[in-house]
Amino acid sequence: MIFTVAIDGPAAAGKGTVSRELARHFGFAHLDTGLLYRATGAKVADGMAPLAAAQSLTPDDLARTDLRSAAAGQAASMVAALPDVRAALVDFQRRFARRAGGAILDGRDIGTVICPEAEVKLYVTASDQVRAGRRFAELSVTDPALTVAAVLSDLQARDARDSARATAPLCAADDALLLDTTNLAIEAAVERAVAAVAKALKQGRD
Ligand code: C5P
Repeated sequence: MIFTVAIDGPAAAGKGTVSRELARHFGFAHLDTGLLYRATGAKVADGMAPLAAAQSLTPDDLARTDLRSAAAGQAASMVAALPDVRAALVDFQRRFARRAGGAILDGRDIGTVICPEAEVKLYVTASDQVRAGRRFAELSVTDPALTVAAVLSDLQARDARDSARATAPLCAADDALLLDTTNLAIEAAVERAVAAVAKALKQGRD
C-alpha cells in the first residue's frame, strides 16, 4: 500500500508528537525532515559547503547528538533557504513518501512541494507563546541558563526566515486539515489526526 501523510507547521507546534503517534497507531514509517536540514546545517558549521553537505548526508549524520539545540535549528533554517540545498533533498523525501506500507513526513513544505499528492495533509500550529513554552520545557532540562524569552525570540526568528524565503516557504496547503494546538491538548490533536487518516484509508478501500 502506498499512502502518505504530510504534516507541516512552524517550530514546536506539536508536529513531532502527532507524527510519532500516527506512525505508532498505523504502523507507518516516519521521517522528520527537519533532521535533514539540521544535519546539513551542522556539516556546514563544521566547514563544508552547503550543497556538498546536503548531497553527502549519511544515516550517521542524522544520528548526531547535537542536532536538537537552538543553534542547530538556526543553522538548519539558514541552509534551508538555499534552493540548491532543498533541491538536493527532494528525491530522498519523495522516495520515502511513496515507500510501501505507508509513510508520514513532517516539515515545512511536505504538503505543498514534496508531496502535493499526499492522501492526508495536516497543518499543526499554535500561538508563539505556547510553542515557546513547550520548547523551553524540552531544552531547559539540559540548558538551565535558558530563558523563555530567548526561546521565543529564537522561534520567531526561525519562523520569519522559514516563512519569508522564496523557495518552498512555510505555509499550509489549501487542502490541509488545520490542527491549532494553542488550546487543544496534544492528545486531542492526535485523536483528530488519527480520525482523518482512518477516514482516508477507508475511502481508499471503498
Ligand atoms: O522541524 P525542525 O525545527 O527540526 O526544522 C529545522 C529547520 O529546518 C526549520 O526551521 C526549517 O528552516 C528547515 N526545514 C525546512 N523544510 C522542512 C523541514 C525543516 O525548511 N521540510
